[in-house]
Amino acid sequence: MERVLITGVAGFLGSHLADKFLTEGFEVIGIDNFITGNPKNIAHLNPHPHFQFIEQDITNYINIEGDLHYILHFASPASPIDYLRIPIQTLKVGSLGTHNVLGLAKAKNARVLIASTSEVYGDPLVHPQTEEYYGNVNPIGPRGVYDEAKRFQEAMTMAYHNFHGLDTRIVRIFNTYGPRMRLNDGRVIPAFMGQILRGEDLTVFGDGSQTRSFCYVDDQVEGIFKLLFSDYHLPVNIGNPVEISILDFAKEIIALTNGDSKIIFKDLPVNDPMQRCPDITKAKKILNWEPKIDRKTGMKKTFAYFKSLKPEELYQVEYKNFDKYIKR
Ligand code: UDP
Repeated sequence: MERVLITGVAGFLGSHLADKFLTEGFEVIGIDNFITGNPKNIAHLNPHPHFQFIEQDITNYINIEGDLHYILHFASPASPIDYLRIPIQTLKVGSLGTHNVLGLAKAKNARVLIASTSEVYGDPLVHPQTEEYYGNVNPIGPRGVYDEAKRFQEAMTMAYHNFHGLDTRIVRIFNTYGPRMRLNDGRVIPAFMGQILRGEDLTVFGDGSQTRSFCYVDDQVEGIFKLLFSDYHLPVNIGNPVEISILDFAKEIIALTNGDSKIIFKDLPVNDPMQRCPDITKAKKILNWEPKIDRKTGMKKTFAYFKSLKPEELYQVEYKNFDKYIKR
């Protein structure tokens, strides 16, 4: 059996990737420190005979016994409110954590896929964003801790590829959604879902004219899987190119859920990208991949998940494991 290591396995994407690789017949070793991941996301995997879990912060040395064939590096906070609350951890996992992951891949002669992000394009001046665009990032803004860590991560990965001949892949993930997103992570979909379910008004930031394009998690996982088994080592955008303004999206969610929430407007966060949409020409050509699940179908499945949460989860306080990993 081939063995795959997934960092950030208790996160939204990490846990879906673990499902996929177990289904495809791999042995999966998952690592997480639960700083933003949730034990509940992997509870169903713990009894699986081919799943093993290690609770660890990957900014410390990672020791894995035996062979490893693949590593998927998905450990990182991924939400704008996390960057404000845990900025140093965000920088450390993208830099020191990535260095450990690459060192482990080299030691085990494993292929490694690194989760990068559309945030490397910052507040883009080119639209839609192609992989060749260098980006427009403010290094000292509130998102700088994430954006720059991910840019460093890409540079480090390419250095290991070019200097050590490491077998690497880089996926640039655009906004992705689905079951197991953290309800209170502040991102727009869980925020709107929580607000609908608690009977609150939907908070649109700015005038809502900023755009995003939302990819359903199953499509994202399929794209990542195909990229890992391609022979392409330069970055590839994976996302859904159907773009919508946040205001229209808020209206769409109210209609879709038959909610009676109103829309209220709040200040636009600093350096909030005004337009984001992936150019997926490369993924189509190289991976023969494109998203299949439209927003209405994906949002229905996502709403069903949030609806299934218990009332105490719907009102839960964030960061239960926070103190354990913060050294002040
Ligand atoms: N947003 C919003 N209301 C919310 C949360 C987010 O209008 O309650 C907006 C946010 O300003 C951004 C977009 O929705 O323009 C997507 O934000 P998110 O935090 O999901 O991720 P981002 O794509 O900015 O990294």
